[in-house]
Amino acid sequence: MTVLDDLRKALGDSAVREGAAMGARPGSDMSLTGTALPRALIRPRNTEEVATALKLCNEAGVPVIAQGGMTGLAGGANPTGNEIAISLELLRGIEEVDTASATMMVKAGTPLEECQRAAADAGLFLALDLGSRGSCTIGGNLSTNAGGIRVIRYGMAREQVLGLEAVLADGTIISSMNRMLKNNAGYDLKQLFIGSEGTLGLITRAVLRLHPPPGDITTTLCAVESYEQVVALLRRAQSALGGIVAFEAMWLDYFKFNADALKLRFFEADHPFWVIVESTMGTEAIEAFLAQSLEDGLITDALIARSHAQSRDIWSVREGHPIEALPNLLNFDVSLPIGRIGTYAEACTTALKQRWPQSHVSFYGHVGDSNVHICVSVDYAPGEDMHSVDDIVYGVLGQYHGSISAEHGIGTLKRPYLHLSRSSAELALMKGLKQALDPKGILNPGKVI
Ligand SMILES: Cc1cc2nc3c(=O)[nH]c(=O)nc-3n(C[C@H](O)[C@H](O)[C@H](O)COP(=O)(O)OP(=O)(O)OC[C@H]3O[C@@H](n4cnc5c(N)ncnc54)[C@H](O)[C@@H]3O)c2cc1C
Repeated sequence: MTVLDDLRKALGDSAVREGAAMGARPGSDMSLTGTALPRALIRPRNTEEVATALKLCNEAGVPVIAQGGMTGLAGGANPTGNEIAISLELLRGIEEVDTASATMMVKAGTPLEECQRAAADAGLFLALDLGSRGSCTIGGNLSTNAGGIRVIRYGMAREQVLGLEAVLADGTIISSMNRMLKNNAGYDLKQLFIGSEGTLGLITRAVLRLHPPPGDITTTLCAVESYEQVVALLRRAQSALGGIVAFEAMWLDYFKFNADALKLRFFEADHPFWVIVESTMGTEAIEAFLAQSLEDGLITDALIARSHAQSRDIWSVREGHPIEALPNLLNFDVSLPIGRIGTYAEACTTALKQRWPQSHVSFYGHVGDSNVHICVSVDYAPGEDMHSVDDIVYGVLGQYHGSISAEHGIGTLKRPYLHLSRSSAELALMKGLKQALDPKGILNPGKVI
């Protein structure tokens, strides 16, 4: 009997797919770097079936990959051909919204947008929000500790979790479905599974924290002349506007490329930086903030979106779909202390342009969360590939003590560079944890560490 026979016997024929029956989806996440289909695809229906599948794979020493919505950007859910993929897609649904404790109990395969809607239907707000909301799943969001556009106010995915259920490599179910904000009874075990990209256990359920709805959000676009002024504007916005819900900066090359392609023009002149500030304070407070910022020279121009459509136009430039059409486009997701992002961007551009003078290099991102994304498009010479670009972007980043992953995770794509952001003592502790929780190394092998 093979492990697939055992899995069929335990979970039923319909839970196990092989060959063409799997379709193309399990072959790659949205990094589009996957090169093989898994050996088979397992679709358990509940936590107990996930535990059974893991127990059988662990006994047989067969590697396993968790797959959620496959929207990851780090290759974390990509198979090499030997693994059995466990899709969480049938573990879908909201089990409970508790308005008294402002929590939601949800299965791991539930798409983020479904959870956001259920919270809103109950008069509450789920603060996690990403562009992939329609397809990504809560299990994937938590295992990558996703960020998104509301981090500046509410924190990352980790901050939205009160309780978690996960299954260890040997099939042990760890149920820590805590609903209390305060709970210091021993180690906070859920943190082991949040951000570990399916290498320490499979997440099956979670208790998410909800908030009061933020109220009406006003979108503002500001023109700024220097990175120092971008930072000064951030601090001014935080003190003058109370809780800002987004602060996104775009460098001119990124803004211009997308705005021109989308045929959107907001101001007459070009400016080195464009900043989106979103706030729930009323228009009067925002106008006063902008007037003062103009007077103090922090901004040179500003526009308050007067309609949902105008706000959408501004965000469509930030989302930047036109830039995705550039040849060989690589999108990096790094973080640095906020004050150093400007000089890092200059040093990185200089280094890339020295090697590829005709390259496109542009920057944008959640600067208020110390996170910047870099778009790089180059014409490779013979013998060059994406690693030549990685070496420069991460090499310069190492000199600035930044992190090679702000929010997308390590997966396979950034694994060779992890030592630039983590000390050897940290890496040794990570390996120790992996050994303790997954001694046979069956969970997502070759990812993260
Ligand atoms: C248009 C677009 C916009 C995006 N915007 C953002 C953004 O703003 N911020 C951000 O952080 N990311 C963003 N992403 C990346 C991606 O959406 C996130 O990483 C998301 O959290 C992945 O969720 P998923 O369900 O698709 O996971 P998958 O891609 O399926 O898997 C991601 C990783 O999690 C593991 N995994 C999946 N499910 C489980 C589980 N139940 N238990 C254990 N491990 C599991 C996988 O093995 C893999 O390592 C974006 C992606 C796209 C395509």
